[in-house]
Amino acid sequence: MTIAPSDVSESGTSSPDQDLKTDQPLETFGHVIDGAEVQSQSGETFPSIDPYTRQPWAQIALGTKTEADLAVAAARKAFDHGPWPRMTSSERKRLIHAFADLIMEHAEELAMADTRDMGKPITQSLKNDVARTAQNFRFFADHAQLSVGEVLPMDSGHHTYTRFEPAGVVVAIAPWNYPMMLESWKVAPALAWGNTVVLKPAEDTPTSATILARLALEAGIPPGVFNVVHGFGPDSVGEALTASPDVDRITFTGDSSTGKIIARAASDHLVPVSLELGGKGANVIFADAEMDNAVDWSIKAIFTNTGQVCLAGSRIYVERPAYEEFLKRFVAAAEAMVIGDPKDPATQIGPLASEEHYTKVRGFFDSIGDSGGQRLTGSLGDGWVVTPTVIKEPDTDSAVQCEEIFGPIVTVTPFDTEDEAVAAVNDSPYGLNAMLFTDNLTRAHRVSAALDVGTVWVNCFFIRDLRAPFGGAKDSGVGREGGNFSREFFTEPKAVVMQMQPPNH
Ligand code: NAD
Repeated sequence: MTIAPSDVSESGTSSPDQDLKTDQPLETFGHVIDGAEVQSQSGETFPSIDPYTRQPWAQIALGTKTEADLAVAAARKAFDHGPWPRMTSSERKRLIHAFADLIMEHAEELAMADTRDMGKPITQSLKNDVARTAQNFRFFADHAQLSVGEVLPMDSGHHTYTRFEPAGVVVAIAPWNYPMMLESWKVAPALAWGNTVVLKPAEDTPTSATILARLALEAGIPPGVFNVVHGFGPDSVGEALTASPDVDRITFTGDSSTGKIIARAASDHLVPVSLELGGKGANVIFADAEMDNAVDWSIKAIFTNTGQVCLAGSRIYVERPAYEEFLKRFVAAAEAMVIGDPKDPATQIGPLASEEHYTKVRGFFDSIGDSGGQRLTGSLGDGWVVTPTVIKEPDTDSAVQCEEIFGPIVTVTPFDTEDEAVAAVNDSPYGLNAMLFTDNLTRAHRVSAALDVGTVWVNCFFIRDLRAPFGGAKDSGVGREGGNFSREFFTEPKAVVMQMQPPNH
C-alpha cells in the first residue's frame, strides 16, 4: 500500500501556504539497517503529513516485522562480532563527537525535518532540539569515557571491583513531541556504553531519525551499530521489536497506557525496560514569588511546543493573595503569543502535531463547558490550531483538570495553605514533575520534599543537568535517565572479586 498525497483527507479550513506545497516532490526516507538506507521488502510506504499545510511532505518506508527482525539481526551481529563494543571508550568517544559535529553542520535540515513532521516552531527545533541533541551525544560520550567503577578492599584479603559492560542490543521506541532530542537521550548513552541500537521513531515524526542514522554512518560509526526502522506500534514494527528474543534492553518514551503494554512484552523475555511516560505537571505559585519570573516561566511551561510536552505545567495553583494579579498577567501574556506558520522564526504556537492529536485536544477544548470552569481566553483556530487557552477553576474531577491534554490548555486554581497546595499536586495518577515559585527558601525545600514527582523546579523550569536523574513516579514511568542512571540501565555491571594475598597469609 502506498498512500498517494491525494488520498489523504483534509479537515478544517485552509492554511495560508497549503497550495504552495502540494506540487513539491516528496522527499523519501528509508530504514537504515546494517549500514544501508533501504526500502521495505514489501515496497510499502506511508506519508509524513505537515500539520500546517495538512499535506504530505515526505514518503517513508513502512516497515513490518520483517524489517524489525532484519534490524535486530544487524544490531546483534554488530554487537556479537563487530568492532563497536570492543573499541576503547576513547575511540567511541571520538566517533560520537564526530557524529555530534555533523549534527550541528546539518542543524537546519534536522530542525526543518521535525518542524515539517509535527509543526514544532522552527526556532524551538533549531535553537533547542538540534543543539540539545548534539550536546546529548557529546555528554554521554564524555561521561562513559570518564566514568569510574568502585574498588572495595575486603578484610578477607580480597578486592572487589566493578566493571560496566555493554548490555547488548538496545531497542529504543520514541514519541513524536521532541523527536530527535528524546531519541538522543536513549541512543547517546546506549552507543557511548558500547551497545548497538535499533531505533523506532514515532510514525508521525520519522524523518529526523533517518537523517541521524545517515550522519552516524558518515561520522564513521560502523554499520549495524545504529539502525532505524519506521512503522507503527501495535501489530507492526513496535510490537515486533519488543517481542524479539534477541533484544537485551527496551527503552521507551510515550503514553502511559503504551508503557504498560511494553512492560508486559518485556516481561515475557525478562528484558530490563525503562519507561518515560505521561504527566500532568503542576505549577505552584506562592504569593511571595517574584511575579514577572513566575508568569514568564508559567507561560513557557505550558505553551512551549504548543503544549505538547510531557512536563507541561498544565495545572497552575496560585496562593490567593497573588491570584487575581497572576491571572491578569498570565492571560495577557498568553494572548500576546505569536500563532502561525511553524517555519516562521517568529512563531511561538503552531498547529497540533496531527489530525488525530488535534481531534483529541479539541475534545478537551469542547469539554470546557462541562468542566465547571470559566474559559478566560483561547479558541479554535484555522486548521489544526488551538490557541493558548486558560481555564479558571474547573472542577477537581473534570477531564481538563485530571487528564493529560498534551496541548495548549491550562487550568488555574487558587489555594490558601501550603498543605492544600501539596495535596492538590499529589492528587494525580501522574508524578513526572512540578514547579514552585517562592522566595521562602525553607518552604522551597520543605515543599520539594513533599511532592511525589521525579523533578521539582524552584523559580525556574526546563533546566536540565544531564548528570541528574530524569523520570517519573507513579504512572509517569519506571526508572530514570541521565548520567549514572543511564549507565546502570545500558550496561551489565559486573563484580570481579580478586584474591590479593595467598590464603593463610
Ligand atoms: P505513544 O505511546 O502513542 O507512542 C510512542 C511510541 O510507541 C511510538 O513510536 C509508537 O509507534 C510506539 N508504540 C505504540 N504502541 C506500541 C506497541 N504496542 N508496541 C510497541 N511500540 C508501540 O505516545 P505518543 O503519543 O507518541 O507520545 C505522547 C506521550 O508521550 C505523552 O503521554 C507524553 O507525556 C509522553 N512523553 C513522555 C516523556 C517523558 O520523558 N516522560 C517525554 C515525551 C513524551
